[in-house]
Amino acid sequence: MSLQRTFIMVKPDGVKRGLIGEIIKRFEQKGFTLLNAELMTIDRSKAEYHYMEHQEKPFFGELVDFITSGPVFAMAWEGENVIEVSRLMIGKTDPSEAMPGTIRGDFAAAKEENVIHGSDSLLSAEREIENFFGLLKRRSLEDDFPFEDRKSV
Ligand code: GDP
Ligand code: MG
Repeated sequence: MSLQRTFIMVKPDGVKRGLIGEIIKRFEQKGFTLLNAELMTIDRSKAEYHYMEHQEKPFFGELVDFITSGPVFAMAWEGENVIEVSRLMIGKTDPSEAMPGTIRGDFAAAKEENVIHGSDSLLSAEREIENFFGLLKRRSLEDDFPFEDRKSV
């Protein structure tokens, strides 16, 4: 078992469709801890840094267009094995292959607009949390991190 943090983001299609509450509910019910959350519209440079591993893909421009097309709901969550478990809760990238009961399986119809992002490794979780929330990731996991302090770091 390992206590981890991950970056989860409701994409513009999920925000437009009113799925923020449903997604928070699933992560809370699973027992994960919400560390930070913010509704924001991101610029191209933040989006390009977020998706840097896809910069050579033919769909990179389209992906950045989409993720900057409207507000996203960015979150940092903490819990045991939260990176792997949240990927299981999210489901496969292509919603036509995602199992029923997963977020993409239940709510998404196309891989171009698949409702939600979740970090795929410890390294990308750290980079993504810092990209969206700055210094939050520099807190050690063992720190007592009072709720009222979470928005200010
Ligand atoms: P994820 O980790 O499951 O989100 O999937 P990837 O890291 O492989 O891809 C990142 C995101 O790129 C996916 O969630 C999709 O939204 C998007 N994406 C993947 N394939 C395509 C594609 O062929 N076209 C477009 N426009 N977007 C894609
Ligand atoms: Mg990915």
